[in-house]
This record gives sequence, C-alpha cells and structure tokens, in this order.
Amino acid sequence: MNKFTELPLSNAMLSNLDSLKYNSMTPIQKESIPYILKGRDVLAQGKTGSGKTAAFGIGLLHNLDFSKYRIQGLVLCPTRELAEQVTNELRRLAKFRHNIKLLKITGGMPIYKQEHSLSHEAHIIVGTPGRVQKLLDRGSLNLDDLMMVVLDEADRMLDMGFIDQIKDIFDFTPSTIQTLCFSATFPKGIKDLSQGILQNPKEITVESNHDQKVIHQTFFSTQGENKTDLVIDILRKEQLESVIVFCNTKDSCRRVGAELKKSGLHSLALHGDLEQKERTEVLIRFSNGSSRVLVATDVAARGLDIKELAGVINYELPFETETYIHRIGRTGRAGLEGLSFSLVNPKESFRLDDINKYLKTDYEVDNFVNTDIDKKKKFLEPDMVTLSINGGRRNKVSPGDLLGALTSEGGIKGDDVGKIDRLDYITFVAVKRDVATIGFDKLDNGEIKGRYFRAISHD
Ligand code: ADP
Ligand code: MG
Repeated sequence: MNKFTELPLSNAMLSNLDSLKYNSMTPIQKESIPYILKGRDVLAQGKTGSGKTAAFGIGLLHNLDFSKYRIQGLVLCPTRELAEQVTNELRRLAKFRHNIKLLKITGGMPIYKQEHSLSHEAHIIVGTPGRVQKLLDRGSLNLDDLMMVVLDEADRMLDMGFIDQIKDIFDFTPSTIQTLCFSATFPKGIKDLSQGILQNPKEITVESNHDQKVIHQTFFSTQGENKTDLVIDILRKEQLESVIVFCNTKDSCRRVGAELKKSGLHSLALHGDLEQKERTEVLIRFSNGSSRVLVATDVAARGLDIKELAGVINYELPFETETYIHRIGRTGRAGLEGLSFSLVNPKESFRLDDINKYLKTDYEVDNFVNTDIDKKKKFLEPDMVTLSINGGRRNKVSPGDLLGALTSEGGIKGDDVGKIDRLDYITFVAVKRDVATIGFDKLDNGEIKGRYFRAISHD
C-alpha cells in the first residue's frame, strides 16, 4: 500500500493531502518519508517530477513547533525559480494550518526588504545559497533553532559552484540538525559533499531509467549545415504541441532562441542571463500554452515543474549521459509516446556511444529526411496569448475579478480563458488567440474592482 494514511501524520495534514488530490505516495515519497519522520538523515535520488518536494515538505512541516516563531527549517535550492516553485508547493502542503510562516530568500531582491521580513521571524526559509550566506554573514539570519536543512537539486547546486557557500551555511547551524539531500543524479561530488554533512544517511534511489518503449528517440547527423534550420525543419514536420529545445550553454541558448524567433516561430528562451522578471514571464507563457517552444539550458530547466511535453529536441548532446536521460524524461505524457530528437555532430558521436552503453541500446545516427511538402508546412501556432494587467495580489485583484472582466458583456467566453497567474503587482492570463484582441480591450478599458488597469499583450 502506498497511502499517506499509513504514515503517522496529523489528521489535518492528511485531509489537506487529500484535498490536494495526493491519493497515494510516489515511489520516492514512500521510500523516504518514513525515515525522514524518524529523524534520519536522507540522501535521495529521483528524477524531475518524482515528487521530491512533498517528500521533504511533509517531513519538514510535520516536525515544526508552530507556536515557536523561530526558523526551524531551511531549504536550499539552486535557482530563484526553483525556490519559488518549492515555496509554492510548501505553501500548498502547509495549508492545513493557517499560521505557518514561510519566507523565500533569493538574490535579485533588495536585501534590506528581506531583512525586514526576517525581523518578523518565520518557521521555514526557502532560499538560494548565495543570498542565505550573505544574510548569515550580515547577522540578519539566525539559525540557532534550526532543526532541518534540505538540499534540493543538490547535484545542480554543485554544478553551479555552490559547494563552498553550502559548507559555510552549515557552519551557522546547530550540530544536531537533520539533513536531507535530494538530487536528480548522484555524481561523485554528491557523495563527497554528503560525507561531510550527512550523518549515517539512509540512501534512496528511485529508478531514473525511463522505460524506453515510451520515449521514441531519434538522432540526426549534422555536418556543416545550420543546426537551427534543422530544428526548424523538425518542428515543422513533427507539429509538436509543446517542446523544449535543450542547449548546453547560455550562448547557444540565446542564439538558437533568436534564430527561431527570426524564422517566425513563437518561441521563448530561458537561460541564466535573463532578469528575474523576464524569467518569470517566460515560464508563465510557456506553461499556459502561449508558446509551444522553449529553448533552455539544463540549469534553467532543471526541476521546473513543466508538465506534458510532447517532445524534446537536443540541439546538442549533453556532456553527461545522465543529463540526456533527464532531458528526455521530460517528455512522454500519460498514455502517449514521448519524442526525443537529438542533433549529433560526428565529433560528438562518442556521446551517443555512451548513451547506448548506458541504456543498453544500439541507436544510430540517421539523416533527417525532409520533403518539399514539409518545407511548406506551417508551424503549429500556440492556442493561447498571454495578457497581463498591472495589478496583482497586493492590489487585491483576484483571478475571479479578471475572469469577470473578460467575460462581461461583449467580452469573451469563459472557455476562452486559460491559466491565470497572479503575482504581487501583475496578473497574467492566457486567452484563446482568436479572441485575444477582445480580451485585451476588456482588460485595458473595462473596470476591474471599480478601477482601471493597463493591459499588455505578451506576444
Ligand atoms: P520533483 O521535485 O521531484 O521534480 P515535484 O515535487 O516538483 O517533483 O512534484 C512534481 C508534481 O507532482 C507537482 O506538481 C506536485 O504537486 C505533484 N505531486 C507530488 N506528490 C504527489 C502525490 N503524492 N500525488 C499527486 N501529485 C503529486
Ligand atoms: Mg524539485
């Protein structure tokens, strides 16, 4: 049995899990939560989407002393987006009590504001190592009552060079804390790190090898020709509903993103050089169906909870086989075959050899066959367009207000409105492409909660 009810959790927690429709534990949750609840240090590996956040989140929340407004839990994440995502998931899990205080602390925000928030104390901090360390150094973050530290996406944090910062942070924690380390892969660096900071950890690995029958993998040879043109041909031919084009570096990500855009495709790019605001917008537009194509680096895409990719394209094969496995694991929707296309330069064919060795397969490099008909085929346009208004949570604008404005007389139908993402001072809404101008007009000229807001179309 994999029911949460088998765990010694409070009824309030259980009924909240029930209302989140978490009917049964995912494998990594089933393997790790019992040990976490017993207080063991845990070193756990599971691919993106395996439910790692709830695995540590449930343990973290279960052990909190709610009456004590001191920092008892610290979650470290490699990037701001992941910190944001983890905070959101923890907030959902924490809904069983009204007074749990979670605080997100990441770079790119004014540090004095965070210091102000910290002065009000919180139960749990979710942050990126750089900013957490800075606040510790400034003496504005006190971890004397800390009970648990979670390293989320630990392999990525190592890749990004956070090791020294993480070690520094541990110098500020009590020696009795419980430490959980979650990672998508287990490179050697993780073992080394864990030996320094975990005590007798329970090691958990959940099968990360994907069932190869579900993901259809193709490798195309590239030699000399413009690789982006090949990506474009693949997109034309395959008409994928949603796809991530993976690049190994920020530079190629930026360039491929620009080239795809120039070809008339609605594509977006996600890489480390974007400002926080731009990154948030990109993710919202991709996940709400306003763009079918996202060009991304592994670092930028790691851990992001983007569901239901129809395919992935590897603009280049990654340096490590595990990264490849991880990339293609993003595709393959329930009941549907996932598609993966990789561009392989002869000089990199040894990477395909590594993949074959790892997967015990014998994939070969093919030539992409493109007929004239394919060349004329149009790109599959995204269904939606993202609109936004300059009002959000802090302006007391609710998703319902937006829906009301859009569907008021002369407006659009409820069915034409997609995902609504509300941030502090801005709200994004996806609307069907063919009624986008009407929707825009309603938001820009109509009254919302007795006020007028400015609308923007992000297309
Ligand atoms: P990971 O960190 O392993 O990549 P996440 O923690 O982001 O995965 O979880 C992926 C998705 O699965 C999230 O949308 C989360 O809400 C959902 N999820 C997690 N646990 C469960 C569960 N037991 N039942 C149903 N959905 C779950
Ligand atoms: Mg995660």
